Amino acid sequence: MVLGCLLDGESLVRWLALCALAALSCALERGRPPPTADLVLHNGKVFVAAGSVSTAVAIRGERVVAIGEQAERLIGPSTRVVDLRDKLATPGINDAHCHLGSGGLSMLDVDLRGASSLAEVESRVRAGVAHASSGEWITGRGWDQTRLPASELGPGGWPTKSVLDRAAPGHPVFLRRVDGHTGWANSRALQLAGIDARTADPDGGQIVRDARGEPTGILKEKAQLLVASAVPPPSPQKLRRGLLAALDLASRTGVTSAQTEVDAAQLAIYRALREEGRLTVRIYGWLPLTLQTVREFEGRRERAPSGDAWLRLGLVKAYADGTLGSRTAYMLEPYADDPSTRGIQRIRQEEMDALVLAADRAGLQVAVHAIGDAANREALDAIERSRLAAARRGARHRIEHAQVLDAADIPRFARLGVIPSMQPTHATSDMRWAEQRIGRKRAEEGAYAWRKLLDARASVAFGSDFPVEPLDPVEGLYSAVTRQSRERPGTPPGGWLPSERLSMEEALALFTAGSAYAEFQETEKGTLEPGKLADLVVWDRDLLTVPPDQILRAKPVLTVVGGRPVYEASRN
Ligand SMILES: [Zn+2]
Repeated sequence: MVLGCLLDGESLVRWLALCALAALSCALERGRPPPTADLVLHNGKVFVAAGSVSTAVAIRGERVVAIGEQAERLIGPSTRVVDLRDKLATPGINDAHCHLGSGGLSMLDVDLRGASSLAEVESRVRAGVAHASSGEWITGRGWDQTRLPASELGPGGWPTKSVLDRAAPGHPVFLRRVDGHTGWANSRALQLAGIDARTADPDGGQIVRDARGEPTGILKEKAQLLVASAVPPPSPQKLRRGLLAALDLASRTGVTSAQTEVDAAQLAIYRALREEGRLTVRIYGWLPLTLQTVREFEGRRERAPSGDAWLRLGLVKAYADGTLGSRTAYMLEPYADDPSTRGIQRIRQEEMDALVLAADRAGLQVAVHAIGDAANREALDAIERSRLAAARRGARHRIEHAQVLDAADIPRFARLGVIPSMQPTHATSDMRWAEQRIGRKRAEEGAYAWRKLLDARASVAFGSDFPVEPLDPVEGLYSAVTRQSRERPGTPPGGWLPSERLSMEEALALFTAGSAYAEFQETEKGTLEPGKLADLVVWDRDLLTVPPDQILRAKPVLTVVGGRPVYEASRN
């Protein structure tokens, strides 16, 4: 730790490599073989880094010490040896954008993903009621009105509170849409939140109403807060159960690092789990970008990133807009399927500029949630102005999602050193309706345009946005490589906007090295080069060569973090 403070990451790795070399030459001089490895994976294929494949990798302690033939030579009597035949070892997946806290809780909540009728919603809510105590809040998420029959929808094309009143008459119910930007409440929840026909729409939000002005139960954007603030926070025990469920899911799916939303309660749990030796995923947490957060970091004299290889802070996140699904993404031109709106701008430009500049001056890394082309421009403008004012370089500010870009803004990412932190599953979930929202021309110009961003030399990072999308990275890899449906693989033929497809090698690199760069950890992880942390996954098939339809079936057989197996299929 002391060294970690004195040296930056790169010098530390070099220093460690020198130590390893010194130990090796020392052992050779005395005529003894070098110390053997704790774990060697061999006889197969090791994806070391983009453009570099090997046959073996050796690990000692928490680090990779050798690859290829050199790794074989480190096999000793006490080395655990794993046969990689027909399998593929890759660096551990680093999910650059997820919400492990809410995702973990959602694993304990009513799950409405895929529900395609109100009857199905009703029966899933009823099942949640069966496990709840009397009068307890029923919370859930994952519903998507575009999957429900139009005949079952009410005002504005949204479902209404009546089905939830039927399903849970004695409980307040609050269900978030799959993107988290629209809420669906029943009458009891509206009553507890004090919402009725006289309640005005809050700033940056909307209460959907019927012809008589009565709230229908649908709350958009900031209007959700009216109900959400009436929901009692989860107990620390429940939050811990949720996080453990999410960490377990991560290990099972090959995720060894997560860049995730955190709050004080979650940080306390991560610290406790670490003490107990139960933290199995490396965490880079983001806090909300407010002037208060910035002042707190300044007070502790913490710059980005602070912490150690297991738990780090320094990322602060602001929201520029909503989502395309809810038509709250902030667009330069009106929506193609609703010309009355350009979406919702969540923060005025001046306010965004001030926040980014404050964080920049405090040495923090900024992440701006931006989906629409106007929101992306707003974020890029704020970062550009801050760069001029603070004259800071290498800040690696990021735009989360960067979903719809105006062509003129694509080259600005590389020029300003802004990282597009993207989620390939969003493209293959949204392609069902994205062109209705924005039309063909805008889609071709810059929708989910990771290939165009790479060609413009941007450093792209990949993540899942769990629980909006599954945490399982094979879903993202498949989406990036095929741009085809995960529910109906092979459609549309050739993929949606196929010129944006990546090779598997490129997609893996963005989920590993790309994400590591996005959190200032490229000298520590993201590849399996000697000296790096031994975070890796062994997949049950060779992702680099299997036909696309097999990608979704790939599963980890072994997940290793810091040299320690955290998941083994054979032991489950
Ligand atoms: Zn997110």
